[in-house]
Amino acid sequence: MIPTDIDGAGRDILARAQALARHSDSPDHYTRTWLTPAHRAAAAQIAAWMREAGMDVRTDGAGSVIGRYEGESPGAKALVTGSHYDSVRNGGKYDGILGILVPIACVADLHRRGERLPHAIEVVAFADEEGARFQTSFLASRALLGKFDAALLGRRDAAGVRFDEAMREAGLDPAAIAANPADPARLAAYVEVHIEQGPVLLGEGLPLGVVTAIAGGTRHLVTVTGAAGHAGTVPMAMRHDALAAAAEMVAAVESRAKSQAGLVGTVGLLEVKDGTGNVIPGEVSFTVDIRSGEDALREAAERDVFAAFDAIAARRGVAVSARRNHAVRATPCSPRLQDLLAESVAAAGAPVRRLPSGAGHDAMVMAEATEVCMLFIRCGAGGVSHNPAETVTEADAGLAAAAVGEFFRRFRQAA
Ligand SMILES: [Zn+2]
Repeated sequence: MIPTDIDGAGRDILARAQALARHSDSPDHYTRTWLTPAHRAAAAQIAAWMREAGMDVRTDGAGSVIGRYEGESPGAKALVTGSHYDSVRNGGKYDGILGILVPIACVADLHRRGERLPHAIEVVAFADEEGARFQTSFLASRALLGKFDAALLGRRDAAGVRFDEAMREAGLDPAAIAANPADPARLAAYVEVHIEQGPVLLGEGLPLGVVTAIAGGTRHLVTVTGAAGHAGTVPMAMRHDALAAAAEMVAAVESRAKSQAGLVGTVGLLEVKDGTGNVIPGEVSFTVDIRSGEDALREAAERDVFAAFDAIAARRGVAVSARRNHAVRATPCSPRLQDLLAESVAAAGAPVRRLPSGAGHDAMVMAEATEVCMLFIRCGAGGVSHNPAETVTEADAGLAAAAVGEFFRRFRQAA
């Protein structure tokens, strides 16, 4: 049943994204960070749209805006959906926002028809996911589940404003940030709509994607120690050049990650200690970031990469050591909900493509409380995101609304 005016819905969603992007911390570009005046204005606008769509609206202790569209019987368990309304600095105006505006459009459609579902729908506009102001991650979804880290209260932003002061200034009580957590027993499931933030759907000419898992990842800091020496006097055969060894290691990361689908590996930072043009590098450190939607795949790749590092180091007579400073396991999306989402996408008239998410999303946190799934919308402009060039089409946004409307109606709680 796709009675929604798909084109009209897509047009409205994009117009609202444009309107919301005007609430920016900077007049020069789109940046909206936690609890700034622009952020609070965006929250008020989202709350108004939720009310207009027939929802009861509340704000939680972290500033997230939660709209509830009641089910057939009052107090029914909620199918929760949402995403974030903060942004990175100089970001794209659809990242996060589509996951708020698409479900609001779907609820508005239900409301117009006077249609109620067996479950309530709750749309959550998470106040902070990117964490650009206080260098946090998933602040709002964690707070929603009562998992706030109180050590953050003393943290300061770039202007020196303390976290708890920023809260008070915005009319929030720092002591109550996670005081009324969502009760997992009242959540039926969580579904998040998000722009893909990558080029896969665009490359294949597909508007929508059903996410299979959110990638897990590890980051290591690797140090290679060789022997520094005079660039003119030490013969090539007698060198233990730490940078030449590191270069081979960087290439090993790339070739292992390329050898298998579903795996990505990146060296994003490389530093030559006391580096200068006429000295053989004695010490080099670099980062290794490896991610996959499947933990076993990632773990095998990590083992191979570090075995390659050891072999390179042994052959070149340098030492290599590594310290892991970040590790997150993959979050699988519920197979049952993936199937339901796939049926909904097909019913909306779009081909079904399943793909993993390489980026983290609030759904990772929500998965600690309930079963989750995600719908990706094709990202235009070469798949660029976290950038002002990020785009989406009216047609794709409308299709997403049709698919999500279907999903809302087809959804049943797990037995
Ligand atoms: Zn996002």
